[in-house]
Amino acid sequence: MSLAAKKYFGQHFLINNNIAIQIVDNLDLNLCNNVIEIGPGKGVLTKLLVKKSPNIKLIEIDLDCVDIIKEKFKKTDIIHADFLKIDLKKIGFKKYNIIGNFPYNISSQILFKILENRNDVIEVVGMFQKEVAERICSKPNSRKYGILSVLIQAYFNCEYLIDVGSENFKPVPKVQSSVIKLTRNNTIKLGCTYSDFLQVVKACFSQRRKKIKNALKNFTNLNNANIQDTLSKRAEQLDVADFIKLTINLLQKK
Ligand code: SAH
Repeated sequence: MSLAAKKYFGQHFLINNNIAIQIVDNLDLNLCNNVIEIGPGKGVLTKLLVKKSPNIKLIEIDLDCVDIIKEKFKKTDIIHADFLKIDLKKIGFKKYNIIGNFPYNISSQILFKILENRNDVIEVVGMFQKEVAERICSKPNSRKYGILSVLIQAYFNCEYLIDVGSENFKPVPKVQSSVIKLTRNNTIKLGCTYSDFLQVVKACFSQRRKKIKNALKNFTNLNNANIQDTLSKRAEQLDVADFIKLTINLLQKK
C-alpha cells in the first residue's frame, strides 16, 4: 500500500535496507530481550526485529501506519498511541530496550521520557537528526555539549554509531541523520534527586557563556566553600560529576 508521508508526524521512511540491518544488529538483547519500537512506520526495522525477539511492542501514532503494520505482522503487538503520552509502566514489560528511527520533531521529548523511565531502560538504539546525536554524545569543552549531554551521560554510556545521509529516506529530510546507542550504566542514585539535578543543569546552561555564579544567582548556598572553584567556570566546562557535586552542595537539605 502506498502512503503519503505526514510531515506533522515527522515521517521520513528509511528506504535503505542495509542501514536498517546495521541499526537492528546494534541492539544487544543479551541482558533483556524485550523491545519497544517507537514509530515503526511501514515496518522497515520491525521486519528485522521480529526475527530477533519474540517480545516486541510497537508504539505508533499514525493509524494508517498501524493498519499497515497489523497487515504485515499479524502477531506483533502494536499500540496506537503517542509515545510521549503513554505510561510505560503499564506496557507489560518490567525492563526493555528501545529502538527506532525517531521522529525528529520530538527527539528531545523522547529523550526526556527515556530519562524519566531510566531505571527500566536497558539500551536505546536510535536514529536522530545528526546535530542531536552529536549533542547527546559530546563531552565537556565543546560548543555542542549541553543539557541533554549531561543528563543522558549521567545514566547512559553513549556511542556514536553511523551517519546516514538524507538520500536514504523517503521523503528526503532537510537534515542529516545519525544512529547512536545508549547503554544504561550502573548509576541508580546520583547522590541528589533527578529533579534537583535537572533544575541545576538547566539553570547552568540557561546562560552558557556566563560564569555559573551568574547563571545561578537565584540560588541560595552560593557561598558554600566546596563549590567556589566550580562557580567561576562556565557550564560547558563541567563534567557530570561536577554537576552532581554542584547540585548536592546547592540544594541538599541539611
Ligand atoms: N521506523 C520507520 C518510520 C520512521 S518516521 C522507518 O524507519 O521508516 C517516524 C515514525 O514515528 C512515523 O511512523 C511516525 O508516524 C511515528 N511517530 C511520530 N510521532 C510519534 C509519536 N508521538 N508516538 C509514536 N509514533 C510517532
